[in-house]
Amino acid sequence: MTSPGTLFVVPTPIGNLEDITIRAARILAEVDLIAAEDTRHTRKLLSHLGIATPLQSYYRGQEARQGQRLLAELHQGKNIALVSDAGTPAISDPGTRLVRLCHDHGIRVIPLPGPSAVTTLVSGSGLADAGYAFVGFLPAKAGQRRTVLQSHLFDVLPFVLYESPRRLLDSLADILAILGDRQICLGRELTKIHEELILTTVSDLQAEMAARPVVKGEIVMIVDGSKVTAAVGGDDLYQLLTSLRQQGLSMKDAVQKLTHDLGGSRSEIYKIGIEVWKD
Ligand code: SAM
Repeated sequence: MTSPGTLFVVPTPIGNLEDITIRAARILAEVDLIAAEDTRHTRKLLSHLGIATPLQSYYRGQEARQGQRLLAELHQGKNIALVSDAGTPAISDPGTRLVRLCHDHGIRVIPLPGPSAVTTLVSGSGLADAGYAFVGFLPAKAGQRRTVLQSHLFDVLPFVLYESPRRLLDSLADILAILGDRQICLGRELTKIHEELILTTVSDLQAEMAARPVVKGEIVMIVDGSKVTAAVGGDDLYQLLTSLRQQGLSMKDAVQKLTHDLGGSRSEIYKIGIEVWKD
């Protein structure tokens, strides 16, 4: 009986083609098949590397059907490399379902380290000393986006967001209103010719981006974590309550939420709530 093949999860460059690792290039050349999010896109990378391995599509929306086909090939003993358009597969990319399918069917999975917009930004941000969380894309709809941001209000760890240039200003406005004027680091077009890395505050970034005639390119941001959990002062409470009021919460619900989330004194929070809701 043929022994099953292996699924290699292979990161590819997020812009600069020199960022492919020597091992990734070797695996791409050695496997029987490459499962790619966009075969035309990956063909360009392969031709740059002088690799002629056959390609098969594996893209979002068709994961179930294409995954079964790839699983059958793996069972027949073929080794497959999974790649996405850029960066590490399964990081806000199709891939997770195929990886899971392989685990569930006893197929060996070998993930390779390599480029990703998340780690590239985090390493250049200077904000993630004690760790970070990865959130990925915020919802496109304003209401859902605000709910997600609200859920991160008290997160101590900084968190990484992917964002489209079209929605950047809306998202920055929501981040400012909901989370306050924190430190933020934006990476745009990382590793590419027009690469940009900005560490500043949310309000300054908002002003700078709004002043540009157009913002283009691929964007990743890391938003600093909450500083208010340990000892919350009156000013912090005022800002948090104002933010919750802007979110449409009643004073009662906002006071209840902060008392619960911060574990502070209800009467102290209530006193500041009266100030915030007085006009
Ligand atoms: N799997 C990829 C990774 O590991 O980075 C991410 C895939 S996700 C579909 C694509 C998003 O990643 C883009 O919309 C952008 O937010 C971010 N991104 C990708 N390349 C980037 C770059 N060169 N500079 C900044 N952000 C980038």
